[in-house]
Amino acid sequence: MDLAVARAVVVLSGGQDSATCLALAVKRHGAKNVAAITFRYGQRHALETKFARGLARHFGIVRHKVVSLGFYRQLTTNALMDPAQKIERRKGSVCPTTVVEGRNAFFLLAAAVWAKSFGATEVWTGVSEADYSGYPDCREVFVRSQQRTIRLALDWPVRIVAPFLHKTKAQEWALADRLGIFELVRDRTLTCYNGIPGAGCGTCPACKLRAAGLKAFLSSRRSVAGRTANML
Ligand SMILES: [Zn+2]
Repeated sequence: MDLAVARAVVVLSGGQDSATCLALAVKRHGAKNVAAITFRYGQRHALETKFARGLARHFGIVRHKVVSLGFYRQLTTNALMDPAQKIERRKGSVCPTTVVEGRNAFFLLAAAVWAKSFGATEVWTGVSEADYSGYPDCREVFVRSQQRTIRLALDWPVRIVAPFLHKTKAQEWALADRLGIFELVRDRTLTCYNGIPGAGCGTCPACKLRAAGLKAFLSSRRSVAGRTANML
């Protein structure tokens, strides 16, 4: 692959959001112009990396880098990194126990550093504040601020592309459907906090959010199909 032509780096975790984000970037730029980066930060489920690799392969991404942020465990802990912690909302806090403090700040900066190394000016992320889980680094205010900070830090005109910032999970499913990757996202991504692929455990907050979005999308699709059938 000619790295000089790659325009965008997609932060790819192997979940629903980043899979759809990657599909969108590939549709916009073509696979040869897109690179992907996956981070290991001490998460319990190494399977995430396997799913990310599978997605990169599926979309024909030649340049996929898996990077270790091995220092994370030295700084903080949470339910995604420590199996002894319960996945739940915390009393008196908007953030659930699954928050990985500052994760997207590190991810976006690291992705931008890599992007600059081969001349790419876009960093894509699947973060969303629409189905807000209480994660401060999934908000538009953070993304805007981080873009400015990275530009200053690197002296590089990077643009952070966050296409789902104000999209609900149901809208993401609809987009996956339009992109022809509905089954891929449904069956070959890993969103579950308990590390179970596809529909997941069904009980953790990530599974519930994903399932509620899927249900809303499928029922809207059925009602559209019903209206169309009535018109025929
Ligand atoms: Zn789950």
